[in-house]
Amino acid sequence: MKKKEMVKLVDLTKCTGCRSCQVACKNWNQQPAAQTENVGSHQNPQDLQHNTWTLIRFHEGTDANGDMYWDFRKDGCFHCSDASCVRVCPTGALSYGEMGAVRLNQELCIGCQYCTIACPFSIPRYDKVTNKTYKCTLCEDRITNDLPPACVKACPTGCLSFGPKEDMIAAGEQRVIALKEMGHENASLYGKEYVNGTHVMYVLTKPEKEYAELTVKPNVPVAVRLWRGVAKPLGLLSIGAVVGASLLHYFIKGSKAPKEEEGGE
Ligand code: SF4
Ligand code: SF4
Ligand code: SF4
Repeated sequence: MKKKEMVKLVDLTKCTGCRSCQVACKNWNQQPAAQTENVGSHQNPQDLQHNTWTLIRFHEGTDANGDMYWDFRKDGCFHCSDASCVRVCPTGALSYGEMGAVRLNQELCIGCQYCTIACPFSIPRYDKVTNKTYKCTLCEDRITNDLPPACVKACPTGCLSFGPKEDMIAAGEQRVIALKEMGHENASLYGKEYVNGTHVMYVLTKPEKEYAELTVKPNVPVAVRLWRGVAKPLGLLSIGAVVGASLLHYFIKGSKAPKEEEGGE
């Protein structure tokens, strides 16, 4: 029997920035802690890494009244229904799982980094040592055994919940209505409408553009659509992964060089 599509709902209004989710993800996936330094922000490490698949992003700002505020946002793979990473992967290392997870099979990954360039959310991270990319698995090993993702299990505030897609959308929409009644007129559910629907959705209280490093109205880049239909059949793969990655990067993001992963062991 086909398994139900599942969604992780992240209600940002309930996140206290405790990072239990970040630690639980490391723990379950047996990823070592990274050596980091204090750069004046509570965000640690500074970005997603090949061995940090979820990260609480901290954002400090000042509102229209001059009052200081904090934002916390759990970042990681959105498990898109129309995933740019799956579209561009030349080896089939990226594929769709039954319950909504986008899988990354490291055995098939050749380290070409097409997925890191194509992802509209800048999620997959490359590791030079293994010459492979990595990202959140949606804890497919747990959810196929009727266990919630490790990050959801660890969250103490109810910010994270996990369940059948229609239930999570209903819960998210109800929460948005409640927030609007409380005066948050810009409350919205992020993810349902994008890239054919994501399997990680956010409850937001502010316009998307006011969240640090959150992609506003994400979609599959035109160059990614063409890549599958035109560039791949033309045999670009035969000229090598590095040249292919440079071309893909140029088509999507212009001439700027891809960003190297920061931090490390
Ligand atoms: S968020 Fe990026 S890495 Fe994750 S499924 Fe979507 S395109 Fe792929
Ligand atoms: S779903 Fe699993 S792999 Fe993904 S962030 Fe949560 S704990 Fe990590
Ligand atoms: S465990 Fe929950 S409350 Fe704590 S940082 Fe993660 S999402 Fe936020």
